[in-house]
Amino acid sequence: MSQKNIVFLFNNLRVSDNPALYHSIKDGDTSVIYNYGNQNIGAASKVWLHHSLIEFKKQLNHALNIQNDCSEELLNNLIKKDKIKSIYLNRSITPDQAYEMKKIIEFGKNNEIPVYCYESESLWHPDEIHKNDGTPYKVFTPFYRKGCLPHSVPRKPYPTPNLNISTLNIRSLNIEDLNLLPSIRWDKQLVDLWDISEEGAHKQLNEFIEVGLTNYKEGRNFPAKPYISKLSPYLHFGQLSINELWHIILNQEDSKSKDHFLSELGWREFSIYLLHHFKNLQTENFQKKFDKFPWKYDEKTLQNWQKGQTGIPIVDAGMRELYTTGFMHNRSRMIVGSFLVKNLLIDWRHGERWFWDCLFDADHASNSASWQWVAGSGADAAPYFRIFNPVTQAAKFDPDGEYIKKYVPELKKCPLKYLFAPWEAPDHELRAFGIILGETYPKPIVDLKKSRESALEAFQLLKQT
Ligand SMILES: Cc1cc2nc3c(=O)[nH]c(=O)nc-3n(C[C@H](O)[C@H](O)[C@H](O)COP(=O)(O)OP(=O)(O)OC[C@H]3O[C@@H](n4cnc5c(N)ncnc54)[C@H](O)[C@@H]3O)c2cc1C
Repeated sequence: MSQKNIVFLFNNLRVSDNPALYHSIKDGDTSVIYNYGNQNIGAASKVWLHHSLIEFKKQLNHALNIQNDCSEELLNNLIKKDKIKSIYLNRSITPDQAYEMKKIIEFGKNNEIPVYCYESESLWHPDEIHKNDGTPYKVFTPFYRKGCLPHSVPRKPYPTPNLNISTLNIRSLNIEDLNLLPSIRWDKQLVDLWDISEEGAHKQLNEFIEVGLTNYKEGRNFPAKPYISKLSPYLHFGQLSINELWHIILNQEDSKSKDHFLSELGWREFSIYLLHHFKNLQTENFQKKFDKFPWKYDEKTLQNWQKGQTGIPIVDAGMRELYTTGFMHNRSRMIVGSFLVKNLLIDWRHGERWFWDCLFDADHASNSASWQWVAGSGADAAPYFRIFNPVTQAAKFDPDGEYIKKYVPELKKCPLKYLFAPWEAPDHELRAFGIILGETYPKPIVDLKKSRESALEAFQLLKQT
């Protein structure tokens, strides 16, 4: 039996700039195991993963071995049936994946099999970036400008290796065995909107460079405009390498938008960094004083928010974009987040959970860090008095009502002067456009002015504690 290397993948479902795959193939005969590891991921992520695995398996000429759990028994079986020379991994800080990774490293140690780990999740390893006193940064700008940028130029991407992947003698699961698809098939129409593959990631990137990048700095604020990259799910699942993206954008000409885009990748780094240093970011307030915050909870109100039935058009448009596409524009994420946490006073963790279940890009680090940012409980968070007014936000960032009308068709005929706050219009005027509040479209579930004042009071009290 000839010796072979094993690449264990938890993510990084791509062949280009995949450090573990590249080094393993360079070193010799290679087999690849995808280890699902019973991950605790949301429904939309499962769907994306299912399709990613199908495409990735094709790329490896069907020689991808799939496992649900790398148990001791499975690993022992592996060395019994195949002669293992070395193990190659890409490091992950996502808790479920980090746990699986540790098991494999331990197994390598106990069996005297060398294990090689590579960085591919972030551009700078979180342990390498710290303040002069050695403690972690808690504010984005110094983290990025003083910590990351001067530290080093991110590693250049590795070339794609010649793929000649060997099969293993242990049985592989079928992708279907992971049960990633929902029993009620709500996923089909969402999946049709995306090309869930490594090739799809590159197509998306090229389209963004052609259409979006030059307009990105200003244009990224307008949810109806095609000026954002929509690369987040590909980055999350590793169908696009963050190093490759960084260097491709760095080499573009337009410097203003280019720098702005790179700094957004910096926010991604910051989220990973925070999760690395503060492991409970998904469940615990970063600022402990928020533990005493008097959140309100009302099931019906939460459901209205989740379904896009709040009666506030821009909020409903955002929530319905999420539900019908598996994605939501960043501007809308901030608006619906602020509305949930500040106008409805519902704990940010309920929002985080819903996004976790519905977003194709649901990411442990970015989702938790961003929700805490919106709530004001996070590191470098939005100050408590910044309460987005969804009416002025809509007027400013969806001035033609294109986004609202796309996702809230009940208001398609509503004239622009009433579109952002239809409750302010006289009933008979709305009726002329087929709109009856409380019947064809909900009345607002909360008074924006009063709820803003209540939020300010509650947050003010917190300030005094
Ligand atoms: C409440 C809330 C929840 C969020 N949850 C997630 C999440 O689960 N997963 C996720 O990837 N992003 C999350 N974000 C951040 C941001 O909204 C998305 O990364 C972005 O909208 C993705 O669209 P894009 O790829 O077109 O971004 P672009 O504007 O094209 O930016 C390019 C890339 O930069 C990164 N990026 C941009 N903005 C941010 C940011 N604020 N924080 C971290 N990274 C950023 C992403 O990787 C993104 O793909 C959240 C933001 C908010 C306000």
